[in-house]
Amino acid sequence: MDWSKCEGSELCVTMCPAYVFEMKELTIGNRVKKVSYVIDENKCIGCFGCMIICPNNAITIEPKDLNKINRVRQTTLV
Ligand code: SF4
Repeated sequence: MDWSKCEGSELCVTMCPAYVFEMKELTIGNRVKKVSYVIDENKCIGCFGCMIICPNNAITIEPKDLNKINRVRQTTLV
């Protein structure tokens, strides 16, 4: 999550099926802004919805994140 790009649309909060995000006030420098905040990345199921829907490209899912998601899926399926 790149908070400098987040404009607080809440689209990711609304669409995430795993309830990974919530809105939070964040102080960046001397400015307070409402941004989307990751409350539990371990809940992520890797649907990419948040990354696609964000109008400001504030969310990036890295390959290392996908490895972690796949490990969670494998653990869950066993
Ligand atoms: S990729 Fe993960 S965090 Fe993003 S919307 Fe899907 S489940 Fe939620």
